[in-house]
Amino acid sequence: MIYIRTRDEIELIRKSALMVSATLTEVAKLLKPGITTKSIDTMAETFIRDNGGVPSFKGYHGFPATLCISVNNVVVHGFPSDYVLKDGDVVSVDCGFYKNGYHGDSAYTFAIGNVAPEVLQLLKVTKESVYRGVAQACENNRVGDISYAVEQFTHGEHGYGVVRELVGHGVGRSLHEDPQVPNFGRRGDGKKLKEGMVLAIEPMINLGTRDVETLSDGWSVVTRDGKVSAHFEHTTAVRKRRGEPLSSFAPIEEAERANPELNSSQYGEQIPMIKELVIQ
Ligand code: MG
Ligand code: MG
Repeated sequence: MIYIRTRDEIELIRKSALMVSATLTEVAKLLKPGITTKSIDTMAETFIRDNGGVPSFKGYHGFPATLCISVNNVVVHGFPSDYVLKDGDVVSVDCGFYKNGYHGDSAYTFAIGNVAPEVLQLLKVTKESVYRGVAQACENNRVGDISYAVEQFTHGEHGYGVVRELVGHGVGRSLHEDPQVPNFGRRGDGKKLKEGMVLAIEPMINLGTRDVETLSDGWSVVTRDGKVSAHFEHTTAVRKRRGEPLSSFAPIEEAERANPELNSSQYGEQIPMIKELVIQ
C-alpha cells in the first residue's frame, strides 16, 4: 500500500524530518577524535526527547540505539559502542524522529580530520546523488527513474559500487512503508509516482565493489572488500515537477564547516551547484 499524504500530513512529516536535521546538526557540532560513538548516541537521544520526540530506530526490530553510526567500511546499521573516533574516520550517521504520528528519516556522512581525497570525492558524489534522485521524484515518473539517476551518476559516471541489499522506502506513519526505492534500476520501471507520496531516498555507495555482508552482531552491514562506504538520505515529498526534500542538509553543513575537527573541503562551492539541481 502506497500512501498519498495530505498537505497537513506532509507538514507533520516535514517537522519530524527537520528535527532529524537538527539532531544531525548537534552531532556535527560534537564529532571529533577521542569520543565514543556511544556518547554521540546518548546526546542524540536526549536532544530528541527534549524536543518532544521519540527516536524512531530505538527498539525497531530490536535495534538498540537512537542512531545508526557506521564508521569507515560499515555501510549502514552500525550501532553506537565504546569505539573511539579517530582522525581519518568516515562516519555515517542515520537518524529517525517520530512525533505527532509521523516519522522523519535522514542520514549524513562526515569526514573526521585527514581523509584521503578519493574518499572525500566519494562523499561528494554520494551526496549529490541524493539530489539527482530527488530531482526525479515527480508526478508520473516511476520509482525506477529515481533508481536509475542514482546508479547512473554514482556507478556509471564514477565507477563506485552501489549497494543492492538495502534500499530507500516510503516513510510516514511507519518508518518503512511501500514502495521500496532501490539505488539501482532502469528508467520507467516500478511503481508510478504521484504527488503526495513521501519517500526516503538514500544511496549507500561504496568506494570499491558493491558486495556487502552482515557482521555476527546481526546488524552492522560492511563492505566485503573492507573499503569505505558513504550514505546520505533525504525524506522527500513527490511533487508535480520535482521532488522536495523535507529534511535539510543546510544546518548540518553549516555546523560541519564551523567544526575544525571535521573535513568539509569536499563541498566548498559545490553546495550551491547541488541546490540548483532541485531548484530548476
Ligand atoms: Mg535513515
Ligand atoms: Mg531510511
